Amino acid sequence: MPDKPHFRTVIEPFIIKSVQPIRLTTREQRAEILKAAHYNLFKVQSRDVLIDLLTDSGTGAMSSEQWAAIMRGDEAYAGSPSFLRFEAAVKDLFGFRHVIPTHQGRAAERILFSVMCKDGDVVPNNTHFDTTRANIEFRNAVAEDLVIEEGKDPSNLHPFKGNMDVAKLERLIENTGADRIPLCMLTITNNSGGGQPVSMENIKAVKTVLKKYGIPLYFDAARFAENAYFIKLREPGYQDVSVKSIVQEMMSYADGCSVSAKKDGLVNIGGFLCTNDDLLAQEEKDLLILTEGFPTYGGLAGRDLEALAVGLQEVVDEDYLTYRIAETRYLGDHLTEIGYPIVQPPGGHAIYIDAKALLPHIPVSQYPGQSLSVEFYLEGGIRTVEIGSVMFGKRDPTTGEETPAAMELVRLALPRRTHTQSHIDYVIEVARSVYTRRNRVRGIRITKQPEFLRHFTAEFEPV
Ligand SMILES: *Cc1c(COP(=O)(O)O)cnc(C)c1O
Repeated sequence: MPDKPHFRTVIEPFIIKSVQPIRLTTREQRAEILKAAHYNLFKVQSRDVLIDLLTDSGTGAMSSEQWAAIMRGDEAYAGSPSFLRFEAAVKDLFGFRHVIPTHQGRAAERILFSVMCKDGDVVPNNTHFDTTRANIEFRNAVAEDLVIEEGKDPSNLHPFKGNMDVAKLERLIENTGADRIPLCMLTITNNSGGGQPVSMENIKAVKTVLKKYGIPLYFDAARFAENAYFIKLREPGYQDVSVKSIVQEMMSYADGCSVSAKKDGLVNIGGFLCTNDDLLAQEEKDLLILTEGFPTYGGLAGRDLEALAVGLQEVVDEDYLTYRIAETRYLGDHLTEIGYPIVQPPGGHAIYIDAKALLPHIPVSQYPGQSLSVEFYLEGGIRTVEIGSVMFGKRDPTTGEETPAAMELVRLALPRRTHTQSHIDYVIEVARSVYTRRNRVRGIRITKQPEFLRHFTAEFEPV
């Protein structure tokens, strides 16, 4: 391979072929929009958002090759060649025997846990993603988070803060009994823990313990390529190994995986479930037919499978990953420079601001994360999401008393291949402006809320 030029600027490794206009609003308009949305950014129309950093899930841009593949989609009910191309792309990267398409990640989870778990079973993970935990609990099983202690400390610079505490895992198995643990999961990268990666060494160590007890290992692999790229950057011995080979090695230690393709699949919708177990695969396909569709489409259109097949090849491209991780790091480093306390080091898909540390004058009962999130929108039309007590606070339905979440974070998630560096520079400028008048940001109170998943629909007013 010829040498690449050694310039320091990391550029977007693509040009723009199709554009979607975004609209600048005035501060007065945004104040009105916020009031009408009851200060809940989930209720703001996307046309009123300038830079949307709500989530990186399904919000990225597809490539011209993916759009071309969309046209190739074969919509046969059974035996579509689009399925075969999708299946081949997954097998090439992941190597599992059975590949089952689903409409998104949570459908794969529901099928996986329905088939594998019994009442009272225990499923360990580094940190369960919220839908993963919900699907385990819905199956009357228990979700246990076993991330290493460094992973819970926002300022700790450990290179693999998504690692599982292997000693805790072994203790859990000893105390619970291996027969009550139908599977162990590892979330790569660890979404709820700040998009932090899991090292190959940790994957191997977890596998060694599980093997001793005959427990299968599954990945929650939404961001498998970002995880592999962090291994290449940070883990000794992997600098000269291709990301694709790293993905293949990671997967070789697992017995299966569930995947939301809306992240590293580089598509707007889709998911899949993999396993090496023939019997399980049969049960999973039976359940799939009941609620998702025939096993050659599983709730997706043939064209969706085509786009995903191409996305899986594009996501392991190292120029893409270099740009992807550099973009996140660029935002994180600039926010740090301004003075923002963020979860360190910057992860793969998002930057998390510690709102409690930034706004010490706002008590947790007045939701510093939600307050900051509202402020970012008011200041510059930027939509972020609170990941704190609005989302995860526990409320006693009779007394109304609240137990706050462990952290009050605001997440700035970066959609894939969607924004240019000047968009990010704009976000940084808005953040600087919010930072200078942070002492005057006011708290917020809830005026109306549902009993479950209140962050989507709750109403607020400034204190
Ligand atoms: C997004 C995500 C899911 C759920 O996938 P959906 O496609 O949103 O249903 C599960 N696990 C992780 C780690 C995720 O990031």
